[in-house]
Amino acid sequence: MDPYMVKPGQKVHLAAWNPDDTGDFAGKPEARKALKKLRKELVELQERLYAEDKHKVLIVLQAMDTGGKDGVIKSVMRGVNPQGCQVASFKVPTPEELAHDFLWRVHSRVPGRRFITIFNRSHYEDVLVVRVHDIVPEDVWRQRYEQINNFEKLLADTGTLILKFYLHISKDEQKRRLEARRDTPEKRWKFAVGDLKERAYWEDYMQAYEEALTRCSTPWAPWYVVPANKKWYRDLVVARTLVEKLKALDMRYPEAPEGIEEVQVPD
Ligand code: AMP
Ligand code: MG
Repeated sequence: MDPYMVKPGQKVHLAAWNPDDTGDFAGKPEARKALKKLRKELVELQERLYAEDKHKVLIVLQAMDTGGKDGVIKSVMRGVNPQGCQVASFKVPTPEELAHDFLWRVHSRVPGRRFITIFNRSHYEDVLVVRVHDIVPEDVWRQRYEQINNFEKLLADTGTLILKFYLHISKDEQKRRLEARRDTPEKRWKFAVGDLKERAYWEDYMQAYEEALTRCSTPWAPWYVVPANKKWYRDLVVARTLVEKLKALDMRYPEAPEGIEEVQVPD
C-alpha cells in the first residue's frame, strides 16, 4: 500500500531505494495536475482539522543539502490557511539550547491541537550531523534512537499524527543542484560553501540516515523514503501521503448546538 514507508523493524539500505523512481507517473505535467487536486483536498482537510480541534499533525522533513525540504514546504503547503500552520526550522543549536537536553528545543515547537507543524530539520540532526562529526560521544548519541522513539510515542499518545519524510536524492543530483545554486543569481544566496564540506561526508551521512530510518520508523511515527531526484514526484508523494493519512483521521466538523436554528441574530 505504502511502497515508500519503512516498515517497523525493516532494515534500510538506501542503495536499494531508487531516488529516480517516479512510480506510475510518465512525467511532470501529469504529476503537477495530480498535485493540484491533492492540494485542494489538503486545504479542505486542514479546515476540518482546525474546526474539529482534536488532532495535532507533525510533519518532519529531513534531507541532505539541496534535497528539497524548502521546496516541499512551498509547493505542498501552498494554499493551506497559514493560520493553522507553523514551520519550525532547526539550525546549529544556540548555547542556551545546548545547555538543555537535545529534545528541549524540539518539544517546545511541536503542534498544539488543530495545528499542522512542519519541522524543517529536526531532532534527527542529533543522530545525523552530530554523529557524522562526533559532536557528542558515541555512547551519548547511541541512546538517542530510543529517546526519540519514546518522545514520539508521547506525542502520538497525546493526539499527534506524526509523518516523517526523508527526501532521498543521489549524490550526482546534489552536484547538479549545487551547481545550479552557484550559477543562478536568484539561488546563489542558498549556496553555502560549508555544504561542499558536508558533501564530502556523503557516505557517512547515508550510514547515519540508514540507522535512523531503521531504528526510528515505528507504528506511531513512520518514516517515508521519498524518491526526490524529480521534484515533481517528490512533491506528489509527500502530498499524497499527507492527504491519505489526514483522511484516515475521519475528522468531522463539530455538531451544531441544539436549537441553533432558532437563535435570533440581533439587528
Ligand atoms: P540550513 O538548514 O541549510 O539552514 O542549515 C542548518 C544547519 O544547521 C545544517 O548544517 C544542520 O546540519 C545544522 N544543524 C541542525 N541541527 C543541528 C544540531 N542539533 N547540531 C549541529 N548542527 C545542527
Ligand atoms: Mg543549507
